[in-house]
Amino acid sequence: MAPPDVPADVEADFVIVGAGSAGCLLVDRLSADGRFRVVLVEAGRRWRDPLLSIPLGVGAVWKAPRYNWSYRSQPEPAIGGRRLFLPRGRLVGGSSMINAMNHVRGNAADFDAWAALGLPGWSAAEVLPLFRRLEDYSGPDPDDLRGRSGPLAVTEASHADPVVDAAFSAFAAAGHTALADYNGARQEGFGRAQFNLSGGRRLGADRAFLSPALRRPNVRLLTGMRAEQLEIAPDGRATGVVCRREGQRHVLRAGREVVLATGAFGSPALLLRSGLGPAADLAQLGIRLRAHLPAVGANLWDHPRVAVEFRRRRPSQLSGVMRLDRLAAALARAALTGRGPASEPLAAAHLFACSRPGLPAPNLQFLLRLFNPALGPRLPFVPPAVSDAFGLVACLVHPASRGRVRLVSADPADPPAIETSILGARQDVEDLTEGFRMAQAFGSHPALAAHHDGPLSPSSQLVEQGEIEAFLRASADTIFHPAGTCAMGPDGAGGHGQGAVDSTLRVRGVRGLRVVDASVMPLPVRGNIQAAVFMVAEKAAGLILDAARAQG
Ligand SMILES: Cc1cc2nc3c(=O)[nH]c(=O)nc-3n(C[C@H](O)[C@H](O)[C@H](O)COP(=O)(O)OP(=O)(O)OC[C@H]3O[C@@H](n4cnc5c(N)ncnc54)[C@H](O)[C@@H]3O)c2cc1C
Repeated sequence: MAPPDVPADVEADFVIVGAGSAGCLLVDRLSADGRFRVVLVEAGRRWRDPLLSIPLGVGAVWKAPRYNWSYRSQPEPAIGGRRLFLPRGRLVGGSSMINAMNHVRGNAADFDAWAALGLPGWSAAEVLPLFRRLEDYSGPDPDDLRGRSGPLAVTEASHADPVVDAAFSAFAAAGHTALADYNGARQEGFGRAQFNLSGGRRLGADRAFLSPALRRPNVRLLTGMRAEQLEIAPDGRATGVVCRREGQRHVLRAGREVVLATGAFGSPALLLRSGLGPAADLAQLGIRLRAHLPAVGANLWDHPRVAVEFRRRRPSQLSGVMRLDRLAAALARAALTGRGPASEPLAAAHLFACSRPGLPAPNLQFLLRLFNPALGPRLPFVPPAVSDAFGLVACLVHPASRGRVRLVSADPADPPAIETSILGARQDVEDLTEGFRMAQAFGSHPALAAHHDGPLSPSSQLVEQGEIEAFLRASADTIFHPAGTCAMGPDGAGGHGQGAVDSTLRVRGVRGLRVVDASVMPLPVRGNIQAAVFMVAEKAAGLILDAARAQG
């Protein structure tokens, strides 16, 4: 917690806003040589709840209101007008503390596509050393492309459930390739899932990056303090951040740079509130324009998903553990030793595949889940309220649909309006429909069919395109990977190009201000995106330090 005596004005070389995945990494890197004073400001608090570090705890913490911004989307036209729950971590460590910990770098084609937009420095070959430097990977590395000594532990899942091998047989029978490491040279194929876990516990951004940095005298963490607006001097330089904590106003001043790391919903909202965004929208809200940046809040991409669940014949390990007496014992064991059933991550394996021929890289990711996510704790001798199941979650990892984030008022207390627009593009409906069909077909393969007594959700095999689309409309969701809302864009006419930030992540039209988080990713990453967020922050740290050292 921040001391109660935080003065009204705080000064540092760098002010980083948002202690999430990117912000924690940045503070570590920018403070490492002791030369620069770094202040990190976070709206949430720092918690010591063991459920935040026990893998099974994800089931509780990902939606717990006290750790969450709990955004809701606007009614989504392509999915029957449903409003989606959009969790975002609101605590020190950010979403890295409530996420499912899957570690997927993405496909080389993703970063080559960024570079092809005219963004120097972001090609797959150029970002590979950053991924390597970050990782401490303990699994097989046949291509010699992984890191073995970085701060970010990456551990392979080792579930003993026979459904895993059965799923692998079904995948192989359909022509997919078994991979020793889907984060290696080839992503297309299947393998056991990799996680940011160390000693059976979550390795969130707090433990990996922030905790070591907080031992340095040049680092200061201010929690429970919400950034409301940027302070921009008349000469167009961002000089600080106006914040509020328990009703008190504070101004955090940056001698060198302000860095926004408030995430794919938070960063565009903060820029818009500071007059950096589409001129017409800001005028409507009575916000004074600082720079007309149409890209701020636009280009929201996320990965839509649909799950196919099968009734398990033999109970999952988790269904036994959810009996309250056993649950208490499993949680205690996991907390004390990092071992036992509560220490196992929730996904067992990933398959990356193409929905149609001719694609440059996989556009579908399937997660194998060994239990029914609706299982809850139950009293001994009371049967489970829901059937036991295993499931294949099909995710569209290269969607065409784009949504947006906009303000509804200038009041910082009002959450932004978020339109995910998932499945808005016809191609996405067709690709996810194919993903759904593939998941159903895997379940019908004899190897997997031997482990279930038929479909649970949907309750019967769906064949007709129309009925599958209806199921998507009723049940598709996102897998919580929003990004792209302050996208990088190449330099263009007048220096404003089409991006909110340039290839060095500097916000256009202002000096001394960068955005470093998921919102700068211009195009989708094929897979769970946190590894790429860390990579972006690692690169940004180098850019920021180079500029500061050159400045003297
Ligand atoms: C439930 C869930 C499951 C997920 N599972 C996975 C997974 O298995 N693998 C994976 O790779 N990715 C996963 N993700 C996505 C991944 O966690 C995020 O993409 C990543 O953490 C984003 O990092 P970030 O730094 O951009 O934002 P965040 O980590 O969200 O950080 C933003 C920080 O800024 C703070 N903040 C926001 N506004 C303000 C303000 N005005 N003032 C002060 N502070 C502010 C927030 O409280 C937060 O701490 C998941 C996400 C969720 C929510």
